[in-house]
Amino acid sequence: MFEARNITKTFRSEGLESRVLCGADLTVEPGEFVSIVGRSGSGKTTFLNILSTLLAPDGGELLYRGEDVTNFSRARLNELRSRDFAVIFQFHHLLPYLSARENVLLPYMQGVRPVTAEQRKRADACLERVGLSGKGDKLPGHLSGGEQQRVAIARALVKESALLFADEPTGNLDKATGESIMELLGDLKGDGLSIVMVTHDGEYAARADRMVTMVEGRVA
Ligand code: ADP
Repeated sequence: MFEARNITKTFRSEGLESRVLCGADLTVEPGEFVSIVGRSGSGKTTFLNILSTLLAPDGGELLYRGEDVTNFSRARLNELRSRDFAVIFQFHHLLPYLSARENVLLPYMQGVRPVTAEQRKRADACLERVGLSGKGDKLPGHLSGGEQQRVAIARALVKESALLFADEPTGNLDKATGESIMELLGDLKGDGLSIVMVTHDGEYAARADRMVTMVEGRVA
């Protein structure tokens, strides 16, 4: 489904160099749930951002469904990501002045074309899928932290992505709410979604099909 080979990345700022990834590899099978753990600063978030094509690596290869996408132009990567990849973060990045439904519709709102009735129906179906039926009209500020993360997951689902990249999706939630988000991710995996999740929570990480550990910029 997805493969990263020998990924390298060095950040440079104000004359300082920091080599963050030095040959990280990862393979994800179709429908597989992989968790990435490791000490703070080991490169997990940087690696995830490269896997999801938000950040360009310095070296290495990324293969998606057997196709080498490493040298795709930014435009082609944006297209690939918006069609096939979904990304969620610890802080859900909802727009506070848009309703839950409008937040879910955001991936459709990038062009000049207005949102269709079909797309609104799909957004409501995604809200229902994450347990938020009837809450589409609410503003994020009127939802709990767990519900806000569910809206972000519904937004990730609206495009029928094949791969979900999640960076500390439970990081900002209490235990019970984090638990319910983990259950939801398990259900989505059951629907056939492949998931790559970065977490510092060893207990959640162990529930994935496979857990890998990053040590000093490599997958150990
Ligand atoms: P983790 O997710 O495992 O905590 P990160 O990938 O966030 O690790 O960070 C790894 C290292 O890279 C850290 O030392 C961090 O300070 C550094 N780093 C991350 N992003 C940048 C950046 N944009 N510029 C400079 N250094 C960065």
